[in-house]
Amino acid sequence: MTEDCRAARGGMLTTPKVVASSNGSVIARYHADATFRAQIDQVDILDADGMPLVFASRLFCAEPLRERVATTDFIDDACEAAVRDGLNFYFLGAKPGVAAKAAARLRKKHPGLRIVGVKHGYFSEEELDGICADILARKTDVLWLGLGSPRQEALALRLRGKLAGVAWIRVCGGLFDHMSGSVRRAPGWMQSFGLEWLHRLAMEPRRLAWRYLCTNPVALFYLLTQTMDAVPSLEGVSGLGKASIGLWS
Ligand code: UDP
Repeated sequence: MTEDCRAARGGMLTTPKVVASSNGSVIARYHADATFRAQIDQVDILDADGMPLVFASRLFCAEPLRERVATTDFIDDACEAAVRDGLNFYFLGAKPGVAAKAAARLRKKHPGLRIVGVKHGYFSEEELDGICADILARKTDVLWLGLGSPRQEALALRLRGKLAGVAWIRVCGGLFDHMSGSVRRAPGWMQSFGLEWLHRLAMEPRRLAWRYLCTNPVALFYLLTQTMDAVPSLEGVSGLGKASIGLWS
């Protein structure tokens, strides 16, 4: 991230990289929806955000994934790097007030953190150009985009052409809800047994029960049948090869 920010500031990276995450519902949707599949195929870096992906890689890959990369963990490393290197973050997403609260909490935890802009995620198509102008005017290095999947992936790819100078568009789902303190994370032991989804289900049963019921068995099927080492032609794409567990058919 820091290298890409440096490259973008120096004019060496002219189009932002799109960085996304793969979990059970992403895997299920990837195999069910051709449009989404095409979008995921275009992202530059795809993190493995789920212990089931790590377990599958241990079973089927010569070079397994070393760990899961949850955005809720990565954000703290990213904030530390941003303070150290003077990077500018912009938060776009979640209900009004939530991203602002997340920004306030992160600034408190990481003194000196530059979150240069915050905007909620319920905007109209007509407002989009104004939002892009604001992102650029504030010299954003990393745009964190939390609109939920698949909207955020589609928009991130569309914004690539409008945000020259930004290094990363980091899609981040419900990250702002977590960081604002309105959603609690699972205890550590549940995370390491791959059960964070169960904790989320217990917290928000009405919203998540149907999603998990439909997507978890499908994702499990593809994890068990299509997990493999990196496809050689994708090796050169930063981060994509090794993290693509269960996605390639
Ligand atoms: N959201 C948004 N704009 C929308 C729809 C949703 O900003 O038009 C936000 C919503 O408030 C929440 C996030 O997107 O903060 C979706 O969170 P979720 O945990 O569902 O993300 P997912 O797991 O689907 O990636």
